[in-house]
Amino acid sequence: MSLERIDRVAVLGAGNMGHGITEVTALAGYDVTMRDIKDEFVEDGYESIEWSLQKLEDKELIDESADEVLSRIETTTDLEAAVADADLVIEAAPEDLDLKHDIFTDLEEYTSGDTLLATNTSSLPISDIAAAVDSSERVLGLHFFNPPVKMDLVEVIYGEDTSDEAAEAGYEWVESIGKTPIYVRKDVRGFVVNTIVGPFGGEPAFMVSNDETTIREADATMVHERGYPMGPFELGDLTGIDVGYHVRKEGDSPIPPITEEKVEAGDLGQKTGAGFYDYEDGDGADYEPEDAGDFDWLRVEARMINRAAFLVGEDVATPEEVDTGVQLGLGFPEGICRRADKIGLETVLEKLETLYEETGSDRFEPHPYLEQLVAAGKTGEEAGAGFYDYDDDDLGPYHDLNYELEDGVLQVELDRPSRMNALSEDLLSEIDDLFSSVDTDEVRVATIEGSGDRAFSAGADISGFADANPTDLMDVSPGFETVNDFPRPVVAKIDGFCLGGGLELALACDLRIATERSSFGAPEIGLGLIPGGGGTQRLTRILGETRAKELVFRGNHIDADRAADWGLINRSVEREEFDDTVGEFLDDLRNGPPIGLKVAKRVMNEGQDASLDAALAMESQGFGLLSSTDDVLEGTAAFAEDREPEFEGK
Ligand code: NAD
Repeated sequence: MSLERIDRVAVLGAGNMGHGITEVTALAGYDVTMRDIKDEFVEDGYESIEWSLQKLEDKELIDESADEVLSRIETTTDLEAAVADADLVIEAAPEDLDLKHDIFTDLEEYTSGDTLLATNTSSLPISDIAAAVDSSERVLGLHFFNPPVKMDLVEVIYGEDTSDEAAEAGYEWVESIGKTPIYVRKDVRGFVVNTIVGPFGGEPAFMVSNDETTIREADATMVHERGYPMGPFELGDLTGIDVGYHVRKEGDSPIPPITEEKVEAGDLGQKTGAGFYDYEDGDGADYEPEDAGDFDWLRVEARMINRAAFLVGEDVATPEEVDTGVQLGLGFPEGICRRADKIGLETVLEKLETLYEETGSDRFEPHPYLEQLVAAGKTGEEAGAGFYDYDDDDLGPYHDLNYELEDGVLQVELDRPSRMNALSEDLLSEIDDLFSSVDTDEVRVATIEGSGDRAFSAGADISGFADANPTDLMDVSPGFETVNDFPRPVVAKIDGFCLGGGLELALACDLRIATERSSFGAPEIGLGLIPGGGGTQRLTRILGETRAKELVFRGNHIDADRAADWGLINRSVEREEFDDTVGEFLDDLRNGPPIGLKVAKRVMNEGQDASLDAALAMESQGFGLLSSTDDVLEGTAAFAEDREPEFEGK
């Protein structure tokens, strides 16, 4: 059982999840058969796929036509026909253990012994489903998130019997369809992501039930002060209050009285027109930044961190996996383990102990792993270790960016895809740290790009602004300047949104290459702000005052062709040509003379701020300095001998 053997995939169920999983599988180039129990269900699912692919094609988000992708999808109501030659089967039928047992019993009969069998269940134990199959070592969980086309995360879950071989093949397959897998090494209820999200909704509901806060105060604080994409009550209304209620009931967890009341009244959230907020007669989730008050957010985060301690302490997942899970699965602004290390684990433990003492409720009982970390002095970033180690590596560890240094090319990836790579304080300081501490002798050229498929970077992360001190915000982050002053050429690879702070980061790079679908803008004015990362000045220098003022004053987006026309970017190319074009630039820069490029960059950057006389003096000085380098001897010799020069930077 290995990834190489997976060619054909069968998906069972054409509902919400099944049709989405079928679509992403076909998009990745696999042949896939989608099966449901009735023709009309299969047709509905297929039509949803057609509609979605057409949208992707219209927005130029895919490199082939919708029809080409559809040609890899077959549909049927015949289970045996669907799975007979499948190398991987993914079951996405309703959440009912008996039904899933029946399906897996049939699968054992109709598939060959080395077909990988996966279930997309959200809440049933994988081991219980696998119990229907003798060869249960080949059964695993592949938990996609809704909607699969948009959500990048897939939890790869071990049942009690799942073999490493099966889990690894599942993991590699998930990577092969361009999604991000995380291992869930034990079959715990809620896996990783839902384990953490429980207290996010549950604890505020207990607090409102006890009159310790209000719905609006809790939502406003969590969104505007703690950076979550939605408030806990807003999220409850979106997913359905009954959904969380049933999960708690099945898990024998206490149910907050307010949740019970809403379910009894049939006010289940957006789908019924009313829930915690009123959607029919009211304005929905209408909390405002001013509603944030004294809400005890630490109580909520401490409980989520305690759950993370459980997952890590019981070897269910690593801190990196937990953090990837909550960022990609829930859109959290940063990983919960990372946040814990910043808050300080002793503060978190103290909070839990106090609440445990005051209330006697099990939900505050600190997990032993958290106690162990604190007892060992591993209390977080300040102490040098917590969930993560902070001082065992010269570079990093980085949480919001990835980098790779190979053959002289430093490739940097902004890694906050759930936030369209918005520049948070952390991300900017990681950029600063990387560019100021990497060994420049090893680097000939650097590139910066965004992760995910939507943005280079859609702006600065403004979620921290509401409670920030204005004077703190007045300091331009050194990250932009460090990139601007980096002694090697830096190329921005832009595919998607490049806005606000993201545009300013691109402007701090030397060269900018973008796909045609990219868009550019400085929308800060719409928030009553101005660009704060050097944008007002660099835009003026690059575009001239007329165009720079248009961008900054109007706050509108411009497309890549106009950006190229204006000289904001070097090239606007079709997506298929993007990597080749970038590759051609990188080849020139990587093979160019390192000292020559360094001096050219410095003289051109600094000369802009000097008088012409002073700038010309800088240039002559640079010219003189270069004439004594080995690289110039090599360059002139190669020219005379009609060969490619080999510069060494000496
Ligand atoms: P759904 O009700 O939208 O779709 C289920 C489909 O399965 C239906 O079309 C149904 O006709 C079909 N079906 C019934 N019996 C079948 C059988 N024997 N063989 C093949 N198909 C059969 O449900 P959904 O939301 O797509 O959920 C499917 C699974 O995915 C569940 O296990 C659920 O827990 C899990 N899940 C759901 C979400 C979500 O947000 N909806 C997210 C992750 C996982």
